Amino acid sequence: MQEDVISLGRKGVDEEGYSEIPEGYEKGKVKYIVITGTVISGIGKGIFSSSLGTVLSCNGIKVAPMKFDGYLNYDAGTLNPYRHGEVFVLDDGTECDLDLGSYERFNNTNLTKDYYLTAGKIFKTIIDKERAGKYLGRDVQFVPHVTGEIKHFVRRLAVVSKADVVLIEVGGTIGDLENGYFIEAMRQLNYEEGKENVCFVNLGYILKPSSLGEHKSKAAQLGLRTLLSLGVQPDIVVCRSNLPIEEKIIQKISVSSNVPGNMVFNLPNLVSIYEMPLYLRQIGMDQAVIKSLNLNCRDHNDVLNFENWGKFVHTLKECEKTIKVGITGKYTELWDSYISIIKALEHCAPYRNSNVSIHWIDTTEVTDENVEEKLKGLDGIIVPGGFGSRGVEGKIKCVRYARENKLPYLGLCYGFQMAIIEYARNVLGWRDAHTTEVDRDTSHPVIDLLPGQRNINDMGGTMRLGGHNVLIREGSLAHILYGKTEIRERFRHRYEFNNKYLSDFVNRGVVFSGKAKHEDIMQILELRDHPFFVGVQFHPEYTSKPLQPSPIYLGFINACLKRKL
Ligand code: GLN
Repeated sequence: MQEDVISLGRKGVDEEGYSEIPEGYEKGKVKYIVITGTVISGIGKGIFSSSLGTVLSCNGIKVAPMKFDGYLNYDAGTLNPYRHGEVFVLDDGTECDLDLGSYERFNNTNLTKDYYLTAGKIFKTIIDKERAGKYLGRDVQFVPHVTGEIKHFVRRLAVVSKADVVLIEVGGTIGDLENGYFIEAMRQLNYEEGKENVCFVNLGYILKPSSLGEHKSKAAQLGLRTLLSLGVQPDIVVCRSNLPIEEKIIQKISVSSNVPGNMVFNLPNLVSIYEMPLYLRQIGMDQAVIKSLNLNCRDHNDVLNFENWGKFVHTLKECEKTIKVGITGKYTELWDSYISIIKALEHCAPYRNSNVSIHWIDTTEVTDENVEEKLKGLDGIIVPGGFGSRGVEGKIKCVRYARENKLPYLGLCYGFQMAIIEYARNVLGWRDAHTTEVDRDTSHPVIDLLPGQRNINDMGGTMRLGGHNVLIREGSLAHILYGKTEIRERFRHRYEFNNKYLSDFVNRGVVFSGKAKHEDIMQILELRDHPFFVGVQFHPEYTSKPLQPSPIYLGFINACLKRKL
């Protein structure tokens, strides 16, 4: 019977069970974990999914983590980071949700577009197919076509990733209109693949109203009932809570959801997110999943193992020093808009025995008079990526202060460009030097559009995106930090250093220590007579991982520590 359901899909478009099966797909070879959320959003489903991936990987199981996002945007490229959090960029140039960043960091891996599905992507594929006449006169429906497209994407990942398990995080909360058809697709997947090959994990929240002072499980029960009403029987229920919950709550959840008590787990708040994989192991969640899917654990020599992760968490906790780093940012209110930078700084902490305390600097308020006051007490500053004119003059003043006062400076993308503009204005004496992004009519366009960007009108997916190789100049600081002459980093920009001015900068002491391998684009600048003044056109934070921190960030932290001494 089960076989029939899949072979029905192979027959083609006219079948009610329509689901195209990708080439090379073998049923039962790859297992699936589907993670859903109930009660409220924002309870750490992304970190939980990432951490479950970590524990399974540490057990020698190859995991392919993927995310489904219910918005109609094709990808996250056009989303405002202030509303939605940072736009993360994968090596293949995919602009995606920040959860993919957390999968990469927690699973010590690099992902591609095959790991990220949005409603926009599904519907675009379907409408493109319909326009091309691929549905052969049929009416195109949510079931079977939309659900079929989703199952196809998921199974395709199973094939291309060669993973043992595809771990699917369903964005949003159960009951949302946005993810309803996705849940339906997962219900069908479960039916077609067989119960033994799919494990549903639901993460709910146990409320504790301050007026009552005790945990209440009703909202969690109702959330689970909604999930059950969609035809999904969870195998494991995770109860998120602020503080540990009582056994009676576990029992209530168990009875109301048909999930045995030993498959209901409590996940109270932890001191640090990095502890979650160790905690999941401690409460036996990894074994519960492994048992439920009958997975084979393997011995392995990967960097990602319990010992290394445990060492990272332990040394992070024991850090003796703290440095103060200022970050100039437009989205100062929202940490999520700079999440990768914050994480990259955290990743360095155990390796340098120093925590980083972050101070946000709203550059719209920075003037020549108060810049010293604003940067007082900082051990270093970062000017991160950004777009447009807001706060730009304040950023340039901060760069100037850092350069002149030998304060460690790390410029990331826009921060690289700000450093160029500052140097042009204050060292080369070109008062109106600017980026044409802000001033089209400047007589010194030291930062200008990349040639490939000139005739582009669309906003989405059109920047210079993703991983590119960068050649490192021997003997430079970048060379010392990376320890090699060719690196790969990720980009997301439209503008670049204008090579017309190259000799002007070089003659006045700027070292361009990184250059694109296949194009004539300057990618790293540094100043020699400064303890650490580095600008990078790329985003090293996108590739930083707890077990592989970014060399550029490590170098910056070193310089901050030296200044503190
Ligand atoms: N706005 C600049 C550009 O497009 C910098 C982009 C960024 O910081 N990500 O080139």
